[in-house]
Amino acid sequence: MTALLALPAFEDNYIWCYRGSNGASIVVDPGDAGPVLAAMADGLRIEAILITHHHNDHIGGLPALRAVFNGPVFGPADARISGIDRIVGDGDTVHTPGFRPFRVLAVPGHTRSHLAYTDDDVLFCGDTLFSLGCGRLFEGTPDQMLMSLDRLAALPDDTRVCCTHEYTLSNARFAVAAEPVNPERDRLIAEISALRATGQPSLPSRIGVEKACNPFLRSDHPEQLSGLARHLGYMPETRQARFSALRAWKDRFQ
Ligand code: ZN
Ligand code: FE
Repeated sequence: MTALLALPAFEDNYIWCYRGSNGASIVVDPGDAGPVLAAMADGLRIEAILITHHHNDHIGGLPALRAVFNGPVFGPADARISGIDRIVGDGDTVHTPGFRPFRVLAVPGHTRSHLAYTDDDVLFCGDTLFSLGCGRLFEGTPDQMLMSLDRLAALPDDTRVCCTHEYTLSNARFAVAAEPVNPERDRLIAEISALRATGQPSLPSRIGVEKACNPFLRSDHPEQLSGLARHLGYMPETRQARFSALRAWKDRFQ
């Protein structure tokens, strides 16, 4: 039996620990070594580390963890990251004892070298897909982000979505503005509000849930389209243009 654990870090980051059949865990995006070292003192054993992208809140703990962990660190080819010894890219497979193979997906948009990892049971998507939202476009284009999100949306509905930030409730405000009528989404918000009220993570989500509720996976849905057209005063012609306008709207949304 595998177990998923979200270690809180900084203000709103999670460092995911995924326990394999041999009892050791894959640790994803250790932006801060502190919570991981504390978990190790409590018995966490690390089998491998996965890195999704170069931002410091995802890699900052690597140097300190290197001192206590000799195993492989997988991540993208990006000179801005030091400490990766297994460079991987789109189409590669990560083999780790105790785990099913993880497929590597290139998901540019938030950053240009951003990767996601999935074994079709869990998805580690870094800052690409959030529950009810998606990452900001720091380096990529809206077209790239849309393609990346399309790839994630094509994963099995039951796939557990392990996002790196607790943004769900703040994303929810925009989701409601962008698509006023969505009863399933409203049920999700009620569930998540209850979890957050007791200090529990809103994550992991599921791909099927995000497809039903996340405005950025629904830029073609009629209710969403009419919301966007109302906001803009016109209807962008292409799917790419609609996604781009939706992302720009969220960037300015208060
Ligand atoms: Zn980031
Ligand atoms: Fe981040």
